Parts: sequence; structure tokens; C-alpha cells
Amino acid sequence: MAAREEVISKLRGVPADLPPLAEVLAMLEANPGMKCVICYARISDDARAKDAHGIEDQHRELSDKAREFGWLMVHRYTDNDKSASKENVIRDDFEQMLVDLAAGKTAGGYPVHGVMAVNDDRLYRRPGDWERYLRAFTAHEGRVYWDSNGLQDLYAEGFEIKGLIGVAMSLAETRKKQRRARASHRNRAIRGQSVSAWRPFGWEDDKIALRPVEAEAIRKAVHDVISGASVSEITQRWKEAGYLTARGNLFQYQSVKQVLMNARICGYREVNGELVRDSDDQPIVGEWDAIVTPKEWFAVVAAIRGRGRAGQPGGKLVHKYLLTGILRCGNTLEDGTKCNHPMKGQKANEWVKYEHGYFCKKTVDGGCNGTYKRGDETDKHITKLVLAKLKADAAAAVKDVPDWGREDELQAALQRRATLELRWNAGEIDDEGFFRNLPVVEKTIKELRADQAKNIAAKAAAEEATADVDREWKSKTIRQKRELIKKVLHAVIAFPGGMGNKPFDVEQLIPVWRSAESAALPE
Ligand SMILES: [Zn+2]
Repeated sequence: MAAREEVISKLRGVPADLPPLAEVLAMLEANPGMKCVICYARISDDARAKDAHGIEDQHRELSDKAREFGWLMVHRYTDNDKSASKENVIRDDFEQMLVDLAAGKTAGGYPVHGVMAVNDDRLYRRPGDWERYLRAFTAHEGRVYWDSNGLQDLYAEGFEIKGLIGVAMSLAETRKKQRRARASHRNRAIRGQSVSAWRPFGWEDDKIALRPVEAEAIRKAVHDVISGASVSEITQRWKEAGYLTARGNLFQYQSVKQVLMNARICGYREVNGELVRDSDDQPIVGEWDAIVTPKEWFAVVAAIRGRGRAGQPGGKLVHKYLLTGILRCGNTLEDGTKCNHPMKGQKANEWVKYEHGYFCKKTVDGGCNGTYKRGDETDKHITKLVLAKLKADAAAAVKDVPDWGREDELQAALQRRATLELRWNAGEIDDEGFFRNLPVVEKTIKELRADQAKNIAAKAAAEEATADVDREWKSKTIRQKRELIKKVLHAVIAFPGGMGNKPFDVEQLIPVWRSAESAALPE
């Protein structure tokens, strides 16, 4: 520390090799074009020796540059503050420089013909500073100014404005950084009050109490999506029910997705897609009533995200019949191979008792046209098999999701960030160091949180699956049912029933299960 102060004090005031005033005045007499300049530098971190060397480098750079221009450096101003953009930081040398600029000479009596600075924003990080600096600088004619952007004419018309824009941008940048730092921290809006301008779908006009019908619609949608329903199906359902968005429009795909993905529904406060957290890093709970649990919300977000942009499992087509494409034709062709063509559902002829059937397409469409199954019995039988399988799976599901084992990692990362912020606030780290390190630790935190959310979602999905399989099945959409079927079955091979009006024979339907152990399921 002492060594460092020594370094800094050497870098302030009159350079060691500056000739006496009388000599400099004589030099000016002989060479009226010579410029006596002062330079300004700022050190932002008073904790580490490294920065003292940094400022030494700054001054050396300035000296070299001055020599290049044929300028004589007559005084050095060095401030030792935390950040020029933090209010109430008084920079002694900065103030002294303004005095000297206005007076036209340094304390030692040397004339001042110009200013040099390594970074222009060292001089003016606040509009007030810039204005005062410019006024002092232009108090005398013919001065030169150099900074890392090169030589600049501070007398030029418009420079003041240009400078102010620079200030404004620099200020905006600083504020943005500060905001970014705060965003993840306690200073962020943490009160959990509703900020929406409109009545959110699901809540009453007070934005706090639930509107039962809408809240129930959301709750059901969340559960359905977790268990395989698509956002499109929910959208269709909400349209049919005549629900309106907060702005009074019928729901569209995007607006439904927004409702379901908003943390508001589980009571959490969210700003720009990020959960607001308190100083203990817990999500801020809003003052409004929640519709689902946080766990359910994590799960529905994971489910929607997991399906990609379309938000729908397995493509956009909404199938009308349960087993279209799942049933495959088991007819033996002339060459001895199996047809294996996916069978398609269609409305049955009027004279039969059942509503639909499945058939292998005509030869021109790639099928053999050799297999036909009545829809009701086929659906019933396959549903029975799938439900048995689902029940067996459900019993095992919850046990299979391990606890999230990375709490310690998350805590450590949060601690790292807290320490970083603490040191920054105490001035032990400069802005650059802080903002260089912050994204690294924030990225780690973000990744860990995402991983944690995934685990919570998996657990929730597993619990969802253990619910009453039979009862749940009845309330599911065709798409949800198809999803569940495809989860456990690769396909069902349908063998042709032969000629004539024979009774339906389940032996002609052979399920191809996704896992070997399922083959032994009871029928
Ligand atoms: Zn076929």
C-alpha cells in the first residue's frame, strides 16, 4: 500500500525532469509554437499495486505522445477514486485542473496550452463535469486537446453537443452496467407488486384475487401441457370456451403460451423473463393469489420449451383418430415381406355401427389396401394395453428422479457473486474488473438454475404421471393420448382379418413396446 502511494505521488504534480519555470518561459520565447500541456489520469481501484502500475503506464503513454507532438508536459493530475460515474465522489486533482485551466497556469506558474488524457471518459463521465471542463478549457484560446480518440478541437462548433452525447452514452452505459449488476441483486424491484397495465387473464380487476373460471382454465392447461397436450390444443379449447385475453381478444397460440409461461401464475414475480429474487436469492413472491405451484410452473415452462419453436410434440398436424400412423399394416405381400405401411383413420361407412375405421392406403399411396380394422374396438383394446403399461411405469417413475445434487455448487456461485459485489461496492475492484468477472459467475448461476429447474420439472412430471391413470386418461385430448401411446409403443402391427364379416379379434393386433420388459405385460 505504501509503495503504491509512493508510485502515485510520483505520478502527480510536476514531472521530475521539468526544467525550471524561467527556462520554460525562455523556450517559449524562442519557440512560440511550443505547447505546455497538462495531463489527467484517474485510477479507479486503490486496493491493488497492479493499478498503480497501470497509472504509471498511462502517464508514460501520455509523455511519449507529448514528445511526439513536441509538447512539454508541465503538470500531471491523478485522481484516485472509485468511479467517476458514482455521484458524490470528489476528485481533488480534477477540481485543481479546472482551476488551473481557468487561470491559464499551473500552481507552479507554468502556462497551460493544452490537455491530454488517456481515455476521454476519464474526464467526463458526468454531464456536469464535462460542461465545467469545457468551460475551463475554452476560457483561453488556441489550446490543444488529445485523448485516446486522437487530437480534438474542443472549440469547434457542435463539439459541446458531441461531447454531451458522448457523456450521455457513457452515462447510459454506466447506468446499464449498474442496472445489470443490480438486476440480479437485492436492489432490484423486489416488492412483488403487480405491474401489469391490464387485468391479467386469471385474475380479477384488482389483479390480486383469482377469477375462478379463468384460473381453473389456466390450472387445467398447465396440467395438460405437462402431461403432453400441445399449446395449440389449449388454444383451441380456450377459443371454443370464448375466453378473452386481457385486451379483450380471443386467445391465439402466442397469447396462450405467454399466459402459461409467465411466472405470475405460480405467484413469482418476473421482469423481462427473469425471476426477481431477494437478497437470499429466493424468488420474490407477489402479493397476488397463485394458480399453480412453482413446481408446476417450472414443469410447464420446461415442457413448452422442450418442444421447440412450434411448441407441439411431433409436428403441427392434429390427428382426428387415436391410432392414425401408430397402427401399421401387417399384411404379407406377394414377395413375402410385410406391408408395414402406416394405417390411416377415416370415418366409417354409414351402415356399420361404429364411427371410424383404420385402413391401409391404396397401392398408389404406398399401401397394400389389404387391412382394415374397426376403430372403436381397436382404440379400446390398444387403450387398455397402454393404460396397463402407464400404470406400471407410473409406480416406478417417482423413484427414478434423483434429488438435485448441485445445491452446494449453486450456493458457492452465489457466494462468489456476493463477494464480487461486496468488493466492488467497497471499491476494492474497479468497474472493469467487476464487469469482466460478473458475467462469468452469472453464467454459472444461470446454468445451475436451469439445471435445477429441469430437475424440478422432471419431478413434477413424474408426480403428474402417478396420478390416477384411468381418470386422467378420460380428460385428455387426442393429442395427449397419442403422445402417451407413442411414449410406450413404437407401433401396433395390425394383421388382416381375412375375408368376410368375422368378429373383431384382438390377436390380430400386436403391440411393439418401446422397452423389452413391457413385452410381458398382461393383456
Ligand atoms: Zn398394407
